[in-house]
Amino acid sequence: PQPDPETGAAVKAADRAHVFHSWSAQELIDPLAVAGAEGSYFWDYEGRRYLDFSSGLVFTNIGYQHPKVVAAIQEQAGKLATFAPAFAVESRSEAARLIAGRTPGDLDKIFFTNAGAEAVEHAIRMARLHTGRHKVLSAYRSYHGGTQQTVNVTGDPRRWASDTGQAGVARFWAPFLYRSRFYAENEEQECARALEHLETTIAFEGPATIAAVILESVPGGAGIMVPPPGYLQGVREICDRHGIVFILDEVMAGFGRTGTWFAADLFDVVPDLMTFAKGVNSGYVPLGGVAISAEIAATFARRPYPGGLTYSGHPLACAAAVATIRVMEEEGIVENAARMGAEVLGPGLRELAERHPSVGDVRGVGMFWAVELVRDRATREPLVPYNASGEANAPMAAFAAAAKANGLWPFVNMNRTHVAPPCTATGSELKEGLAALDAALAVADSYTV
Ligand code: PLP
Repeated sequence: PQPDPETGAAVKAADRAHVFHSWSAQELIDPLAVAGAEGSYFWDYEGRRYLDFSSGLVFTNIGYQHPKVVAAIQEQAGKLATFAPAFAVESRSEAARLIAGRTPGDLDKIFFTNAGAEAVEHAIRMARLHTGRHKVLSAYRSYHGGTQQTVNVTGDPRRWASDTGQAGVARFWAPFLYRSRFYAENEEQECARALEHLETTIAFEGPATIAAVILESVPGGAGIMVPPPGYLQGVREICDRHGIVFILDEVMAGFGRTGTWFAADLFDVVPDLMTFAKGVNSGYVPLGGVAISAEIAATFARRPYPGGLTYSGHPLACAAAVATIRVMEEEGIVENAARMGAEVLGPGLRELAERHPSVGDVRGVGMFWAVELVRDRATREPLVPYNASGEANAPMAAFAAAAKANGLWPFVNMNRTHVAPPCTATGSELKEGLAALDAALAVADSYTV
């Protein structure tokens, strides 16, 4: 990359003057001006290059600027840049066919949205109309989107400012052995007790009032907690018994991230509704959607579905999805994620955990890992308090700054760093990233007791 600080300064100045950023105190942020990106890397106008272990916000599963996907978008723009949703359009039909061919079980109808939150909105609406019930049960450690309904369904603190307390949502604890709510000592106990807790929550909330249970198949933003074997199948069985719609949110975990097309495949479970976005086309053009079971689709066979979007199934976004899915297939990208997770990331992160006292836990699968940082390994006290900001968050800020100084762009959330590189990343790129993490963890170690 050629340095071009003058352009960088202009980009930054216009951003600071006019762009209002997500989730931020506008005067307390300092967005990096990005000049370009390719594969697993992006670079700034100073000519500094970063290895992206965050895949943006965990969405560039095929890396940046994949030439075949860029060409497919250009070709579609020349052919038919846009068209209204009520028509049958080639790229939309083909994207739906390819997605339905990979979703588990009988999830064969696709409702397209522009992103993940809208997908969750519509999945909830479908579940309510299908069951005639209103309440939704979700996990405390979860993120389902930033719109009013989805942020209320969300468990993590991003909800707090917008929690109306009357959005028809009740919450429960999903399994997470490292910080077990169930005094469990192993995965079997954690699984059995988390299922018993869900069953009791349902009994006390009133099964006949509950439209849906929604879970991320592998919770992402809330900490990448791979559920123990049997948990999701247990939830499936509980939902069946009570006529509750089971929604799996695969917005972050889907499309190769876990080394399978969908994380549901890891657990051999078929939900009634499955939401997706991000990896469906690596975010090259905004796209999300809901994959719908035959039974729920039948509810709307002769009764109109009361919902829609001007850009549902946008031709450009769908052309990007078609090209992305083909490229993932041709280049074995899902297999790469599985192999790199098992052979490089998993062993590499565990090796770092052995040497760094600040690492309390390492967990994940495929290209989807969390490293949980602690002040004290024995007590598991987090390196920073839950939802810390400002001075209280200084140790994590110092960790992130050290990673960046070593050419690694990390994904940092509370006391964790997530390791979510593109699913295309090579062994040598991952080793380069692990070396940068090694250096940054030395900084985190200095805050341990
Ligand atoms: N669901 C999950 C599991 C997510 O991780 C996200 C975003 O990170 C969303 C929903 C919301 O998606 P979007 O930001 O595209 O609306």
